[in-house]
Amino acid sequence: MYEVKDIIDLKGIGEKKKALFNKIGIFNTDDMLLYFPKKYKDMRNTTPISNIKEEGEYLIKGKISKANNNPFSKTKNVFFTIQDDSGKIDAIAFNQKKYFSFIYKNGYYYFYGKVIKKSSKFLMIHPDITKEEDFNFEIRPVYNLAKGISQKEFRNHIKKLLEYDILDNLPKKILDENHLISKYEMIKYYHFPKDKESFKKAKYRRIYEDLFNLLLAVEEMNNSHDKGLVIDYDISTFIDSLPFTLTKDQISVTFEILEDLARGKQMTRLLQGDVGSGKTVVAFSALFATAKSDFQGAMLVPTEILAKQHYEKMLSAFNNFDINISLLTSSTPKKEKEKILAGLANGEIKIVVGTHALLYDSVEFKNLAMVITDEQHRFGVNQRIKIGNKGIKPHILVMTATPIPRSLAIVLYGNVSISTIKTMPTGRLPIKTYHLQSKDRSNLYKKIKTCIDRGEQGYIVTPLISDSQELENVISVDEVYIKLKKFFGDKIVIQTIHGQKSTEEKNRIMESFYNGDIDILVSTVVIEVGIDVSNATFMIIENAERFGLAQLHQLRGRVGRGDKESNCYLISDTKGEIGKKRIEVMVNSNDGFVLSEQDLTLRGPGEIFGTSQHGASDEILQMALKYDNIFAKIKQDIKLLSKEDIREFKFKRKEYADMIENIGI
Ligand code: ADP
Ligand code: MG
Repeated sequence: MYEVKDIIDLKGIGEKKKALFNKIGIFNTDDMLLYFPKKYKDMRNTTPISNIKEEGEYLIKGKISKANNNPFSKTKNVFFTIQDDSGKIDAIAFNQKKYFSFIYKNGYYYFYGKVIKKSSKFLMIHPDITKEEDFNFEIRPVYNLAKGISQKEFRNHIKKLLEYDILDNLPKKILDENHLISKYEMIKYYHFPKDKESFKKAKYRRIYEDLFNLLLAVEEMNNSHDKGLVIDYDISTFIDSLPFTLTKDQISVTFEILEDLARGKQMTRLLQGDVGSGKTVVAFSALFATAKSDFQGAMLVPTEILAKQHYEKMLSAFNNFDINISLLTSSTPKKEKEKILAGLANGEIKIVVGTHALLYDSVEFKNLAMVITDEQHRFGVNQRIKIGNKGIKPHILVMTATPIPRSLAIVLYGNVSISTIKTMPTGRLPIKTYHLQSKDRSNLYKKIKTCIDRGEQGYIVTPLISDSQELENVISVDEVYIKLKKFFGDKIVIQTIHGQKSTEEKNRIMESFYNGDIDILVSTVVIEVGIDVSNATFMIIENAERFGLAQLHQLRGRVGRGDKESNCYLISDTKGEIGKKRIEVMVNSNDGFVLSEQDLTLRGPGEIFGTSQHGASDEILQMALKYDNIFAKIKQDIKLLSKEDIREFKFKRKEYADMIENIGI
């Protein structure tokens, strides 16, 4: 039976090697066994050279018929030709002159490598070369190793370790019921798959186990009674003061939140609602209750522009309620900043709105009880935790317009409750969306002129700031500005805004846009989230194919926020399938929930939520998404286990505890 050992106890590993292994995170034999290949080389079948008709990876058996291996030439690379019964192919080996002087014209070899097409001829790039008698037909693993550890060496260590049986950490009844292979087989087939089928089984077992561990940890978190501060306040005076009546869903999610707060258990809640559904006022209600209960609240937003806007809205919303509110961003002057920091530390300031500047360690709160993050997908998870640590156990509300399936939410956030706003405020006209080509631009400009003449405003968004950014067929903010100037002259006010302008300048520009002094704002995605100007009625997106669906939907949501009819124009000449599909989906749907589902299938969850930042592997995310029902099943499985069984899950458990700690918003 296998037992965990320090790798120094393995044959062939001394202090020097040990250091190399440590560098890639391998300290003991468990680490080694769980260090899975980054890819595989399928060396099971040879291909006759004449059958190679397209690029790809191939295994060839042949002789070297020619090689430029002149020991006096300067290049270290060797050009050579491989020949078999069916034909010839050129090949190149990098830096292998020495080796070649040994093998040249010396019998049959197996060559495995990538074949590319170069000026109508095929070329094999730097193949693995194995002597006929040393060759095994196999699917060979390829690892990401430190320099100084060879692939062969690593393979041999794994083979050696696999001579011992490995104890399973999942109970037999669970293995049987779910048709899972054993831990030993999982590890074995991950390193050395026999075929596709065995690899699939290994992968399934691994993902099942990962999810199992994750859900078990979530379950334990559910059962632990994290104390939260009790916030219990009648907010009806605030609700009555609003200029509109809340929608049905706004009321019900506000209730859900207030219920959590009154319970004395720490809240972790995701509030999802489409762009324009009115999440802000729900956040304000929660902050109102917090401040009025003499606790502090923080609202975290991704951009400075948005922070300022929220701050101003909050000032006017809480105008009659005697609540001390501050705005803290990186451009807050030093003196004022010091004052705010003191006010937060002594509890005089009840609510602070800010960007990531709020996360700096110098910011201390007296009794932070509520943290709200708006447009969550812009924040790295680690940033969220930082502020979470600032209070004892502050209640956490994450607001997002990108809804995610429940299973995915669990993987991303662990133990989280979800509230959803589905109804839209009444009186909104749906935004109409059109797909245009760049040749339609002047017609479009004529059309928006009539909007501007009516006193309306709008945005044009492009992927780039200036054309110096070296992307063909992508139009920049600067280019659009020039086109507009050419078309409109000085008859209208055009302004550009992007990330390279100073924060002060951006703020000034946004200010004049709010005030209606600018007709068209040409922008990069800096205006993507949150901005709320109800007089804006047209949104033009250039190179629309370059944006994700969620992003396009966010951008489109910048218009249609008042009672005027609004339009969104997606300009794209793309021939690419995914780009075209995205635009089609946008034209046909105004529903953020539908769009984000489509986005997940078109792009995959890893790309949207960023795999690296939350610790869950892309595979787990994919799995969570694809097999929503596997979650329910695993939950059932966990319920069936005795306490004893659960104690068995030591393997990898700590890692998951850490992961949940880290993603526990
Ligand atoms: P989002 O959910 O995208 O953050 P906001 O909170 O910015 O949406 O709300 C969009 C606009 O709708 C704002 O101008 C807000 O004042 C307004 N609004 C919010 N709730 C209502 C309501 N119940 N009735 C009418 N207008 C509302
Ligand atoms: Mg918002």
